[in-house]
Amino acid sequence: MKSMPYAPERITVTDAQLAGWTGELAGTDLLLSGRCPACRDSTFVNLALTSTSLEGADRRPTPALLTTSVPCGCTTSHRDRPATVAGGCGRTWEVTASIAADGAVTLAAATDPYLQEAADAFRREQTGELQAVRTAADRWTAGVVALIGLVGLVMPAVGRDAIRGLIPAARAVVGIALLAALAFAALAVLRGYQAAHGRPITRLVDDDEALRDWYVRHRGQAAVAGHRLRQAIRAATATVLALAVAVGSTVFGPVSQATSAPVRVTRPDGSVVCGTLLSSTRDNALRLRRGDDGSVEVLPAADVVRLQPVRSCTSP
Ligand SMILES: [Zn+2]
Ligand SMILES: [Zn+2]
Repeated sequence: MKSMPYAPERITVTDAQLAGWTGELAGTDLLLSGRCPACRDSTFVNLALTSTSLEGADRRPTPALLTTSVPCGCTTSHRDRPATVAGGCGRTWEVTASIAADGAVTLAAATDPYLQEAADAFRREQTGELQAVRTAADRWTAGVVALIGLVGLVMPAVGRDAIRGLIPAARAVVGIALLAALAFAALAVLRGYQAAHGRPITRLVDDDEALRDWYVRHRGQAAVAGHRLRQAIRAATATVLALAVAVGSTVFGPVSQATSAPVRVTRPDGSVVCGTLLSSTRDNALRLRRGDDGSVEVLPAADVVRLQPVRSCTSP
């Protein structure tokens, strides 16, 4: 039997196979020892009855009946065993432990398929398999944070002046797209963090009632985390789209007419007109949009004594 290859699989056991097993409750740990029903090597397992996760509340142990998933923990080497696995032949099986008030434990073959599934899920959660979803959410969140960094990176490159040069409607589109990008990015980060993290609470699972309760919450919670992660991904996609609209509108959007800097024109009589230059409509004449009332002034070239660029028509 020593050459039995490693295989990660669940097996069912009979009461006869559990005959030599002994167990005891030590604190919130269930200590079991006996011979593995698959490889027949002597096995010792220490099963934690707590699940530290993001849900529920804790309470004191009340020893009773508990269905639990037991992994083979033999120290014999089995071929094909991955280097990351510490020991055992890979088999797991479910037993029902009767825990007496004094901590003594007797084992029987588990018979309730639902509780067997629950016990298996509980063991896998403890070995960190479900953690994969949370890790994925964590990485997504890091990606979304990088996306938000893009806003800060892209917008100065596109330039404030480029946005200011657009016609007002295009400027509005860019503004709305940027606001939307920011809102979607915030939502994506929030949902991502909600999927990845939560309130860590130690939960005691020491009897079948608690195990059922844990299992119901556990399955619901995985669905909730998945739902939030999907929301985060959708919001991140919307962020990218909104950013693309903002950058696209800035680069390719309709540009408003070029205008000159404000100029001050002094006429022969000493009076002054201030405004921005417009294209001339006839020869030997300047056209000026007045800075004060916005009207268009036509100044024959002969009337221009002095032309002086100024920062603004309102300041001297
Ligand atoms: Zn073994
Ligand atoms: Zn084994």
